[in-house]
Amino acid sequence: MKTSDARRLLRAAAAATKNAYAPYSRFRVGAALLTAGGEIVTGCNVENVSYGLTICAERSAVFAAVARRLRKIQAVAIVASGPKPPYPCGACRQVLAEFCPASTPVILAPLRRLADFEETTLGELLPKSFKL
Ligand SMILES: [Zn+2]
Repeated sequence: MKTSDARRLLRAAAAATKNAYAPYSRFRVGAALLTAGGEIVTGCNVENVSYGLTICAERSAVFAAVARRLRKIQAVAIVASGPKPPYPCGACRQVLAEFCPASTPVILAPLRRLADFEETTLGELLPKSFKL
């Protein structure tokens, strides 16, 4: 994807980390989705005292987009407070696969080094997604 688009999406994901509710892990994650219509929808991780109920930033972004009937995603950015690019967990990869083709760019960066982003595709992250 174009570097200017990647930077814009990464900045949106970085801003979403400020909304993260992560009192247990202190690991703040933000995700930003570029929808087919050009809108950006963001999400953040929301932890729970019952740890298994925690939701990742990527899924919270997808669910927020779908709640607005934005079901086509053309790019994904994920930013987190840790030192490494935050690759999405398996559950989020499968949820993204519901709304993104395998060719969808996924860009990842640590919050403090957005310029050092890595770019991959959903198909590289989840080559054989579950399908009915
Ligand atoms: Zn996840």
